[in-house]
Amino acid sequence: MRLILLGPPNAGKGTQAKKMVNELNIPQISTGDIFRKNIKEGTPLGVKAKNYLDEGLLVPDELVVEIVNDRLDQDDCGGGFLLDGFPRTVVQAQALDNYLEQNNLNLDIVLNIHVEKDVLIERAVGRRVCKNCGATYHVEFQPSKKEKVCDVCGGEIVQRDDDKKETAEKRIQVYLDETQPLIEYYQSKELLATIDGQQEIAKVTDDIMKKVKEIS
Ligand code: ADP
Ligand code: ADP
Ligand code: ZN
Repeated sequence: MRLILLGPPNAGKGTQAKKMVNELNIPQISTGDIFRKNIKEGTPLGVKAKNYLDEGLLVPDELVVEIVNDRLDQDDCGGGFLLDGFPRTVVQAQALDNYLEQNNLNLDIVLNIHVEKDVLIERAVGRRVCKNCGATYHVEFQPSKKEKVCDVCGGEIVQRDDDKKETAEKRIQVYLDETQPLIEYYQSKELLATIDGQQEIAKVTDDIMKKVKEIS
């Protein structure tokens, strides 16, 4: 299976991706996670990407496409993959189409998680992530068992700088300008399935898995 999770920042893509990859047995490819890891480790890619993430802006397409193509070439993607946070622009979507065509592959489905703006902000300001393993929490909707301590690895739980209200709002605007056109892009290819993301986490997962089973 080759799937894309589409949706605005804080729609719940990462949360759902974690559940889906367990069931589908394919890797989750989160470009945001790749950038954050490289920034943390101070790699050349991290140095190039840092300012964009801090500002809530998109990393330039050439850079993103290169790292995704390299990632898709790895062996564990042979049985399929789940893209989380990529593509985010029409240029990236076209680059992905090229990659797939060159490798004789198809996409199976693009799951568009729909969430209204006011809910996105509420999710952003309450989102917390583990500094060590990247696990995601929400102070109200998905709290860790022990305050500020990761359930998975015991690491420290912090707020992402780009989840502060002002940057979160800017990222939503970037989404509307750059990423929302992908809804039509994939609709015209008859790959799009829209999911109501404003339900309980488990219900969203159920709806997603129903759609995935319909096509498999
Ligand atoms: P969210 O989970 O809130 O949607 P991500 O973790 O996916 O956020 O992305 C965080 C940041 O990483 C983005 O604001 C952007 O700077 C960068 N980024 C991630 N994926 C892409 C992409 N496909 N194209 C450009 N920039 C990206
Ligand atoms: P994305 O990857 O799309 O940016 P996340 O999966 O990181 O989104 O979720 C954003 C925040 O919203 C997190 O704090 C998460 O715990 C919370 N969240 C995710 N899905 C739901 C949901 N269905 N209901 C309430 N909160 C949710
Ligand atoms: Zn952790």
